[in-house]
Amino acid sequence: MKIIMLGAPGAGKGTQAKMIAEKYQIPHVSTGDIFRANIKNGTELGMEAKKYMDQGLLVPDELTVKILLDRVAQEDCKNGYVLDGFPRTIPQAEVLDKALTELGEKIDYAINVDVPDENIVKRMSGRRACLSCGATYHIEHIPPRQEGVCDGCGQSLVLRDDDKPETVQNRLKVYHDQTQPLIDFYTAKGVLRTVDGTVDMKDVFEAIVSILS
Ligand code: ADP
Ligand code: ADP
Ligand code: ZN
Repeated sequence: MKIIMLGAPGAGKGTQAKMIAEKYQIPHVSTGDIFRANIKNGTELGMEAKKYMDQGLLVPDELTVKILLDRVAQEDCKNGYVLDGFPRTIPQAEVLDKALTELGEKIDYAINVDVPDENIVKRMSGRRACLSCGATYHIEHIPPRQEGVCDGCGQSLVLRDDDKPETVQNRLKVYHDQTQPLIDFYTAKGVLRTVDGTVDMKDVFEAIVSILS
């Protein structure tokens, strides 16, 4: 099964993608996580990506597409995957579509996690991320067992640089300008499904599972 998660920054794509990956035993592929791992390791790709990420801008398509196509070509992706944060522009979606068509494959579902802008800024300021394993928490809604510490790997949790309110506003604008058109793109392909992302994360997941099963 090949699934795409769509939705504004902070809508809960990553949270849901991790649960989908676990239930259906497919890899969770997050371009944001790949970039952050590269930044942490000080790679050339990481340094280039950081310039854009810190401003709330998208990393250029050429760079992003290559990373993603390399990742989904790996062995563990042969039975499917859940893409989180890719595609984010129409050109990215077109490249993915073309690559899949050449392999005789296609996206099965594009799940749109719908959360209004008003809720987003609040969610982002409460988000805490583990830069080691990619886990995400929320100080009020989804707290770790011990404050500031990742349940999964014990590393310290951080407020991402790009989750500060000024940057979140830019990211929302970028989302509406560049990513939201993907809703029409996948609607036209007949694979778009929308779920209400404002409810409890377990209820969002239940809605997604009923779509996938
Ligand atoms: P969120 O879903 O919370 O916005 P992500 O972790 O998906 O965060 O992305 C963080 C940042 O990484 C984005 O703001 C952007 O700069 C960059 N990025 C991630 N995925 C892509 C992509 N597909 N195309 C371009 N830039 C991306
Ligand atoms: P995205 O990947 O779309 O950027 P995340 O999955 O990282 O979003 O979620 C953004 C923030 O909101 C995180 O702090 C996360 O713990 C929290 N969150 C996720 N789903 C919900 C939910 N259904 N209700 C409340 N908070 C949520
Ligand atoms: Zn961790």
